[in-house]
Amino acid sequence: MNTDLKANLGNVKTQIQQLSSRYNRPLGEVKLLAVSKTFPAERIREVYGLGQRAFGENYVDEALVKINTLSDLDIEWHYIGPVQSNKTRKIAENFHWLHSLASEKHARRLSSQRPAEMPPLNVCIQVNVSHESSKSGINDQEVNALASIVQDLPGLCLRGIMGIPAMTSNIEQQRQAFSSLAQVYRQLRTTYENVDTLSMGMTGDMEAAIAEGSTMLRIGTAIFGARKTKQATG
Ligand SMILES: *Cc1c(COP(=O)(O)O)cnc(C)c1O
Repeated sequence: MNTDLKANLGNVKTQIQQLSSRYNRPLGEVKLLAVSKTFPAERIREVYGLGQRAFGENYVDEALVKINTLSDLDIEWHYIGPVQSNKTRKIAENFHWLHSLASEKHARRLSSQRPAEMPPLNVCIQVNVSHESSKSGINDQEVNALASIVQDLPGLCLRGIMGIPAMTSNIEQQRQAFSSLAQVYRQLRTTYENVDTLSMGMTGDMEAAIAEGSTMLRIGTAIFGARKTKQATG
């Protein structure tokens, strides 16, 4: 993978367009979140210069350095890593979106810590469908209970669900896991009209995610290139 950011971003956008039309997805329904974890602020600035506005980060303290460095830019910051209780304040004070909410306790903390002068934090509930690789996320039976709590919290705005199925190169297996997530999402949408986001699909399973109804792809490697090392969380 090269790091010609312009070519990479162009390729990703072309793929999204082609796959959207192949799977009969309405134009513009599949949004792109550029996952910039482990890459420095200057790379984000370059990708921003190419028109990308939404960026995703996994590590709170690493993200805060970039958010401060890039405060002159109109970036929409998404936190997509696991939530830790001692980091909820930083998430509430610095991000526009959280994709990985998985507990009532965190929901209440985040809502009370969201500054009053900021709009509510946009929240996706992380759902752990069967065969999921990460241990984060709640199971699909618990989603409705957490959703109704989030809906009533003034500092949060319920936008949808997020999932990270186990890595497999088999597209039928990828589609099966995404299809379960899509079912949970459609069910949630029947109850909450502000729910409009199904966050699923990464570099390795983009096609399956688009086929099954993703509205937000979280793409790192295909844009920024391969990550060198796996960092500690936090
Ligand atoms: C790192 C990460 C991504 C991006 O993964 P790529 O395979 O590099 O596209 C997406 N979502 C989450 C939650 C991640 O941690």
